[in-house]
Amino acid sequence: MNEIAVIGKAALALSWAGIASIQPAPALAQSQPGDGFEVTRYALALTPDIPNKTLAGRETITLRITAEDVRLLSFSGNALIIDSAAVDGIPVAINQHGSLDFTLPHPRSRGRTVKLELAYHGRPARGFAGSQDLLYTSYFACDWMICAQERFGDKADFSLDLRVPAGMDTLSLGRMTAKRAGPEGSEIHGWKARRPYSPYLYGFAVGRFARASAKAGSADLTYLSDAADSADLKRRFAATPDMVAFLSDKAGVPLPNDGYSQLLVDGDEAQEAATYSVLGIEALPTKDGDPAEDWAIVHELAHQWWGNLITCATLKDFWLNEGITTFMTAAWKEHRYGRAAYEAELDIARERLAKARAKGFDKPLTWSGQYPSLGTRRAVQYSKGALFMEQLRTTIGDRAFWSGLRRYSRAHAGGTVTSIDLERAMETASGRDLSALFAEWVFGTSQGG
Ligand SMILES: [Zn+2]
Repeated sequence: MNEIAVIGKAALALSWAGIASIQPAPALAQSQPGDGFEVTRYALALTPDIPNKTLAGRETITLRITAEDVRLLSFSGNALIIDSAAVDGIPVAINQHGSLDFTLPHPRSRGRTVKLELAYHGRPARGFAGSQDLLYTSYFACDWMICAQERFGDKADFSLDLRVPAGMDTLSLGRMTAKRAGPEGSEIHGWKARRPYSPYLYGFAVGRFARASAKAGSADLTYLSDAADSADLKRRFAATPDMVAFLSDKAGVPLPNDGYSQLLVDGDEAQEAATYSVLGIEALPTKDGDPAEDWAIVHELAHQWWGNLITCATLKDFWLNEGITTFMTAAWKEHRYGRAAYEAELDIARERLAKARAKGFDKPLTWSGQYPSLGTRRAVQYSKGALFMEQLRTTIGDRAFWSGLRRYSRAHAGGTVTSIDLERAMETASGRDLSALFAEWVFGTSQGG
């Protein structure tokens, strides 16, 4: 994930803190996107305008009511224009004040299934990137579709019919399940995820892509680019099969979805999506086998397990996504290049944390207040998170540590986690009480923590 991805989160953390400090009223309790329901399925049909970076779309959201007398369905606000909205076939009122709210014609009770059908168009304020002939999404899914961006714990099925000019290539979640002729010389490419994912991991790309493929065990690896040819893709991503083997072994879980794609673009992008990643040429090594530059490919790949498959339940435990992934980048370097490369990677994390501390800023990993800057947020959730994993490894030893990571990863594959899940797995694997260590680093409940 890149730094831009975190901008929306600082603001959100602040608004959560504000909500928590005042008396909850019924209307307010429902005002956060995703409150009172769980989405089971997002089904989209989108027509993107590639050079203009706009789109028109239809979307059906199937959701289950999880509270009593829900009157409002609230989603993340965005810059799209909603052309129509209906719940179970009946048009509903639309309110766009910060969040995007749909008022139900009458309250729905817990357990009810509701189908929300939407049509919209417009220019997403964030999350669209590319060039004249290329469009790819980056992190802010709920800017180009209707969803609840910060509901990390609400994993849902996702399918997307993309209408594109004939001859264009597309990429989205899971596999392309259908390709048919559309109106006016267009093609419709149907994509479908094979398992539920969190909304922030939804995405797609459209362009004319060179292609190369490889195998990692039984999994299919696909390399795509509008900026490099097939031979160049094979060379740049040559280490990916070994990375998959290493990370699968450490997770104790095979690569999810039996496949993974990497889209190489111009620039410095490094962004994971549910079953693929977008990587900028500037984020990749300029020469082969340089451990100092070899981080983006393995970092985004590691998210296939830690982040995408095993997802923090809320923003409070975001370090479980990014800290573990940052640590696994160092662990890959140790495996590939030796101990010095591992230490060099962790030294970068040490420097970043030291820089934040020098400014008087250090927080436990689950701190949910406002961060003064993106740099300090990363210094805690990415860097300190990675250093905590190293501390755990040193404290309980290699055998227990890797056994604990496998236990944690296997137990929560496909689900969501909080920090206590990691503590329990590491305690079971080591046979030790790690509560003091977790209190100090993670929960901030120890003296002076
Ligand atoms: Zn990341």
